[in-house]
Amino acid sequence: MISLVLLCGLLGLLLGSFANVCVYRIPRHESIAFPGSHCPTCDHPIAAYDNIPVISWLLLRGRCRHCQQAIAWRYPLLELLMGLSWAGLAYHFGPTGQLLMALCLFFLLWVLSFIDFETTLLPDVLTLPGIVVGLLFSWWLADWQAALIGAVAGYGLFWSVNKVFLLLTGREGMGYGDFKLLAMLGAFLGWQALPFIILASSTIGAVVGTLFLYLSRRGLRAEIPFGPYLAAAAMIWLLWSDGILNWYLSSAGMPM
Ligand SMILES: [Zn+2]
Repeated sequence: MISLVLLCGLLGLLLGSFANVCVYRIPRHESIAFPGSHCPTCDHPIAAYDNIPVISWLLLRGRCRHCQQAIAWRYPLLELLMGLSWAGLAYHFGPTGQLLMALCLFFLLWVLSFIDFETTLLPDVLTLPGIVVGLLFSWWLADWQAALIGAVAGYGLFWSVNKVFLLLTGREGMGYGDFKLLAMLGAFLGWQALPFIILASSTIGAVVGTLFLYLSRRGLRAEIPFGPYLAAAAMIWLLWSDGILNWYLSSAGMPM
């Protein structure tokens, strides 16, 4: 068990490095495979010994070895988040098919959240294959019908909310990427997860958004990415859905 947690933590750190490549290159429509890692400022290739997750960033004090340009703190942060969450998932699920599904889902959610945070986009090249992968996992491990309904309902729910919002206000309330992300979450987690995900993500979004507006004094019209909140809600559901359902049933269905 300890070795599984360590293995997943280590793999998470390494894949966190790859996740950074995805976050940088996918919105720029660059290949995620070629060329190898290079400094975005001076284009100098990054040697393997300067590409060790988290540690290299610390040793280089967050600067490129060649041009001394600062390397964004996003790099070690994403590596750390991937490593820690993958280790946590290994501890939570143990050596099961569920673990494999959870690792895939978390990888996609971290990459999508960081891209959405930086660009307010949720690229189709991640969400659409994500829907297919989610359906395949559900077909293998859970209930493919609940997953299919989840995917369709996820897209349809946000599509209709957006349509109503457009009719009432004359502008789009959310991006089409959000529809596809919710469809992906429905495919991975089944339609049963959608009420919680929508409720929790709106709540988290309202709290964080208010804080953010207060701290940054940006206008209310500033575009706030919704993807990270959806991702956070989905992560909570994946880990604690049993507890959430029990709590809900015991507080809502209590016979008087
Ligand atoms: Zn450089």
